[in-house]
Amino acid sequence: MTNIEKNLQAVQKQIHDYALQYQRDPSSIKLLAASKGQDANKIKDALQAGQKSFGENYLQEALDKMALLKDEKIEWHFIGPIQNNKTKHIATHFDWAHCIESLKTAQRLNDQRPEHLPPLMICIQVNVSEETTKSGIHDYELLSLAEACSDLPRLKLRGLMTIPAPKNTFSEQRIEFHKLFLLQQQLIVKGFPLDILSMGMSHDLDAAIAEGSTLLRIGTAIFGEREKNKKNLK
Ligand SMILES: *Cc1c(COP(=O)(O)O)cnc(C)c1O
Repeated sequence: MTNIEKNLQAVQKQIHDYALQYQRDPSSIKLLAASKGQDANKIKDALQAGQKSFGENYLQEALDKMALLKDEKIEWHFIGPIQNNKTKHIATHFDWAHCIESLKTAQRLNDQRPEHLPPLMICIQVNVSEETTKSGIHDYELLSLAEACSDLPRLKLRGLMTIPAPKNTFSEQRIEFHKLFLLQQQLIVKGFPLDILSMGMSHDLDAAIAEGSTLLRIGTAIFGEREKNKKNLK
């Protein structure tokens, strides 16, 4: 058994156990392997262990790996910030984009999504920790962006995503995730069919599960530490 297979099993067991602890159905929680900074062979190990969905943050790094893995059946998620000059490749090569922060980006992805592919699955990124982080829109901007995204036929709005400011305690982590949960509920009440809460990473997956996460983005706990300097590949 490879280390990655062992790690994956351990993460899956954690998800299963926390789900039961918080009265959740374990099968309602999707595991996305965040593979930025990890090489294609590690992705192959994870594939062998049954992992099908992978998340990448840097376009060029992702395209290089996709070329190496072109014969594999992989669901690719773009989980980094989206610059508008990158939308064409993201619309062409990915199944999901998690960090939608503007209508302009959404519109570009919509217009550039190739006809032969199904709609691109998207999440709107919300900033739930205003004072300390800057990625994501404000909560008061959410409704209008959600409405606008829902009108774009080549995108399918599936839910919300957040990366909260780092907090030291479990209860503080829960407070941040709970904000995203409430925002999702408010949209659902208004009729948006949202099934995805993309929240929780290696260090806070328990708090995310407790607050209703349906998609965990886990890197380090599956692959180990990332290679340094990969972020310069942007
Ligand atoms: C890197 C990354 C992750 C995974 O983080 P780990 O701490 O390694 O689990 C999740 N989400 C996003 C957006 C990331 O950039």
